[in-house]
Amino acid sequence: MPIRDDVVVIGGGLAGSMAALSAAESGAGVRLISHKKSTLRQASGLIDVLGAVDGDAPIADPFAALDRLPEEHPYRVVGAEGIREGLRRFDDVVGDRYLGSHTDRNALVPTHGGTIKPTARYPVSVAPGLASAAEDTLLVGFRGLTDFDPVAAAAHLEAAGVPFDVDGAVVEFPIQFRDDARTTRFAKAIDEDQEDVRDRLAGTVAAGIDGHDRVGFPAMLGDDHGTAVREYLEDRLGVAVFQIPTGPPSLLGMQLEDQLIDALERAEVRLSTGNPAVGYEAEDGRLTAVTVDRRGQEVPYHATEFVLATGGLVGKGIDSDRESVSEPLFGCHVPHPEDRYEWSESEAFGDHAFARFGVVPDDDLRPTDADSAVHFPNLRAAGGVLGGADVAREKSAAGVSIATGTYAGRRAGEEVAQ
Ligand SMILES: Cc1cc2nc3c(=O)[nH]c(=O)nc-3n(C[C@H](O)[C@H](O)[C@H](O)COP(=O)(O)OP(=O)(O)OC[C@H]3O[C@@H](n4cnc5c(N)ncnc54)[C@H](O)[C@@H]3O)c2cc1C
Repeated sequence: MPIRDDVVVIGGGLAGSMAALSAAESGAGVRLISHKKSTLRQASGLIDVLGAVDGDAPIADPFAALDRLPEEHPYRVVGAEGIREGLRRFDDVVGDRYLGSHTDRNALVPTHGGTIKPTARYPVSVAPGLASAAEDTLLVGFRGLTDFDPVAAAAHLEAAGVPFDVDGAVVEFPIQFRDDARTTRFAKAIDEDQEDVRDRLAGTVAAGIDGHDRVGFPAMLGDDHGTAVREYLEDRLGVAVFQIPTGPPSLLGMQLEDQLIDALERAEVRLSTGNPAVGYEAEDGRLTAVTVDRRGQEVPYHATEFVLATGGLVGKGIDSDRESVSEPLFGCHVPHPEDRYEWSESEAFGDHAFARFGVVPDDDLRPTDADSAVHFPNLRAAGGVLGGADVAREKSAAGVSIATGTYAGRRAGEEVAQ
């Protein structure tokens, strides 16, 4: 019996999850196919919509800056209403675990490197650390946890001109781990309160509070019991406690991934994970199936509508070798300079061509070929696989994935309903 759904979404990151949820909302039967874990495990867990245009940062109101973006930017297709629709759906998924929905203005979140990130949505545990609040701040890191250097981060924040005093302190974590232990190991110990770690941690940090109004830790203050841990520390220390988003593996990113999976299961989206989509079947110019490699056997997944959400260069939705750049699943056109030396700039944070590599959508997010003709009328693209945005420089990555994923999923659902 062939596997058949109304909508098949390929890719289980933020874009694919939002697309699947959006399509399911319209009543369509939806399947999400995903190969490996998404880049959310590395991501900060912050939802940036637009923080900079042309190197000008920070943008206070992303919506007011949209018309400064290039014509080929994916936000130009979905428009302000498409971004708002995506954010509304995201807010439904995360409920009261994220803040920021009360305003269009970006919040200013301190990062683990000591920069300030303009962001649209942020986890509740991050909120007491916002850089706009003039409260003297102590950043605490742990010897052996090399991912976060609180002294350097504090110095960077002061140099950035934050409106408060900020100090950094490296302390001994109450339990000894191997030197290369990752944040998740620390988080597990705190979550399970191994060896009375919460009480001992509070005791160590209390000695350095000394006039500070709040204390920031790298995001590792527990997982299932994160709220209780923060409340406990606030009670013991007598000041607000916040988390600073960290690099990979990112607890906040993983928590967001878990919330998305819960939402997909609630929406009865069928999840097929662990195997790559490797090809497709088409008939009369329409896509009829995506084939998945299941231990050497190619299994077709049939549907009426499809969403390509396989990510960018990091997620492997866009591939490159020394000569060319390609979209490996459907062979969609990915424009790029012929001369490889023009793919990048010498400046690390320069205007790199590679950052905008991706498929070129029409005004309904359908990938087009070099002559601007759509590949398939029933295939839309979302998230990092789309070209035209330099999401790292603009600080718009999650916003682009949420807005285009929601749009593509809704349109797929509408087409099925017709
Ligand atoms: C280190 C890092 C930090 C980040 N920090 C931020 C931040 O501070 N703020 C922010 O807004 N955003 C941030 N992001 C970006 C953001 O979290 C997402 O990565 C981005 O939104 C892209 O999402 P996506 O769903 O398009 O792709 P991905 O998350 O890359 O997901 C693509 C999915 O498709 C699957 N896939 C690929 N090919 C196939 C195939 N052939 N068959 C089946 N499945 C396939 C992959 O396995 C993966 O699950 C960060 C990302 C990284 C890597």
